Amino acid sequence: MTNSGTSGVIVEYHNGITNGRYLLDDDRSQRSAQLTAIRIEALVEERRSPFQHIAIYETTFHGKMLVLDGFIQMTVADNFCYHEMITNVPLAVAPNRPKNVLVIGGGDGGVVNQLGKHPYLERIVWIDIDADVVELCQRHMPELQQYHDERVEFLAMDGADIDYRHEFDLIIVDGTDPLENRAASLWTEKFYHKLTQAITTDGLITALGGWVWPESGWYASTSALAKTHFEHVHYYYFIDPSMKYGHMGVFLMTNLNLDPSQPTHIKRIPVELMQFYNAGVHTAAFALPNCFNPNTSFVPY
Ligand code: SAM
Repeated sequence: MTNSGTSGVIVEYHNGITNGRYLLDDDRSQRSAQLTAIRIEALVEERRSPFQHIAIYETTFHGKMLVLDGFIQMTVADNFCYHEMITNVPLAVAPNRPKNVLVIGGGDGGVVNQLGKHPYLERIVWIDIDADVVELCQRHMPELQQYHDERVEFLAMDGADIDYRHEFDLIIVDGTDPLENRAASLWTEKFYHKLTQAITTDGLITALGGWVWPESGWYASTSALAKTHFEHVHYYYFIDPSMKYGHMGVFLMTNLNLDPSQPTHIKRIPVELMQFYNAGVHTAAFALPNCFNPNTSFVPY
């Protein structure tokens, strides 16, 4: 095993059939009982930005992969699971068709790419703290930039420093894990207060939601924070193979009383351009197993 510092931990694995190098997700959570490893071919480019170490790998099966400070962020091969679900679910639910969207994070370009498939959106403001992530992904992951167009305004700044007054019908927060220090500002009271100021009264917000189980602490603390700012906080989840635990969750926050499991406005979604999202997947994502209920005492392990 070699630890190439912040580019990630690389493991040589030989069992006579599978012989290769794997990038091990550098999971520094207190309960890293299991780890994700993606088979790699080569380091394509790495850079230390003022905010983080950025590495892009060529993998064997997953296409290019973005790694920040040793944490796997996404792969080109299956990024569509997460990006389609964090973007299209709220667009299919919002009672009034959104016009103005704010994206916070998402330096790989995947969320903005999904938004670009919706011609009725008028303004897409995209804020990422790190212009270097955006630049490297634009160069090495053109698949995630295909639908970017002139509606997109990019600003390199900390999402927690936004100052908008009820301008956005939809806000999508695609940051990094709360365990990763650079993104800590996106998990604070200050940031959630800014979100309440930036969203319209009938607006929706989706945000990276992590895992209810096995990392219940993340779910519990974020939903508690969200519930102090929004009347309704929902959670949905779906498969996301290259993420740790093979799935990923999203919080959906709003002051509207609606049933988000119903894609009432699915006609807005160009389903023919989707690799993952459809009406059935939308509804199914809101069905939560009993052990995801934080009010029960059941702890699987
Ligand atoms: N989770 C995504 C996925 O599965 O595809 C990938 C996460 S995306 C790469 C995370 C982005 O959040 C990075 O580009 C990072 O620079 C950005 N970010 C982290 N902290 C931020 C902050 N405080 N404000 C704005 N952007 C931030």
